[in-house]
Amino acid sequence: MLNYRSELNEMPSYDGVEKNYRIKVNANESTLNLPPLVEERVINRLALLAFNRYPNEEYYSLVEQIAKNFSVEASQILLGGGSSEIIEKVFHAFGGAGHKVVYPQPSFSMYKIYAKAAESEGVPFDLDARFDLNVDAFIKKIREVNASLAVVCNPNNPTGNALTPAQVEKIAASIDCAFLLDEAYVEFYGRSSVNLVAKYPNLIVARTFSKAYGMAGARVGYMIAHPEVTRMINKTFMPYHMNVLTLAAADIVYQMRDEFVPRLQMIIAERKRMFERLKKLSGVEVFPSETNFILIRSARAEELKNFLEALDIGVRYFSPSAVGLKNCLRISIGTRVENDEVFAAMENFLNGR
Ligand code: PLP
Repeated sequence: MLNYRSELNEMPSYDGVEKNYRIKVNANESTLNLPPLVEERVINRLALLAFNRYPNEEYYSLVEQIAKNFSVEASQILLGGGSSEIIEKVFHAFGGAGHKVVYPQPSFSMYKIYAKAAESEGVPFDLDARFDLNVDAFIKKIREVNASLAVVCNPNNPTGNALTPAQVEKIAASIDCAFLLDEAYVEFYGRSSVNLVAKYPNLIVARTFSKAYGMAGARVGYMIAHPEVTRMINKTFMPYHMNVLTLAAADIVYQMRDEFVPRLQMIIAERKRMFERLKKLSGVEVFPSETNFILIRSARAEELKNFLEALDIGVRYFSPSAVGLKNCLRISIGTRVENDEVFAAMENFLNGR
């Protein structure tokens, strides 16, 4: 028998293999590939790469761009293979035997897994019935358990709602442990808390190119923190963990990020339109969202998911064991045409047509 490390036996798996639905609104990706002008420049850039060399200047070129945009030092930025790698490393850096990590639930399901992977104790903190976070009670919990790391996803996945920057600041100011703020969806909210890094050396902000910049396939994310924090977390990465294709593509995308503004506006407008329409469906509870997806609850959620799947429309259904998410579906925002089709199918199903 193979002798695996013991923690692996209890570790849940993240099932990443997904069907390629005709309308794929299950994974909060960007429904659009890169803008044509950006794609052309990326392709031209890739043709010039030195595949035989380890990536060096490509890493620092992107770091410098990001640092300049946020008016921070390059030493305050680390890149990762998606924000997933960043988050995993932060858990690794502050985890370990006897260390506790506090995070709201329901939230990004991977926090629980990263806590386990880091051999630390995950301490979920329940959101209220409307999925709001009681900030004072959350702070109390973090102190009470003497946490090493507190995590907040803002805006929150899968609920869609957000804390205000003042609420985020209250948490940062009230706790002594590391505070990871996952801003994967912040471009759809428009109220980042990156500026607080200058004031709170315990704050680490994780961002991604996967959502607003349509780069989920390239795997690129980054963190912004105090230089001493990035110096320590940097020790947890393997040498050359970012590949040159991703770095070069992300460098162009970041240079051309203004090209993404119209589509961000489109997604936000579509989210508002879908929210208003979904609210009118009978038997459906719709939760307000500041992201590129909307969470709904319906007693017929599972049947509805199956009905949509038969039409080759993929939405995210949460297993009954997912705390707080019973009978919930999460629907990412697509193009106007896709959203219309998703809505019409839902309306047909719920009206028994
Ligand atoms: N954080 C949140 C809240 C997410 O929803 C996701 C992906 O869905 C991630 C982080 C990881 O994204 P990526 O690794 O593509 O940056």
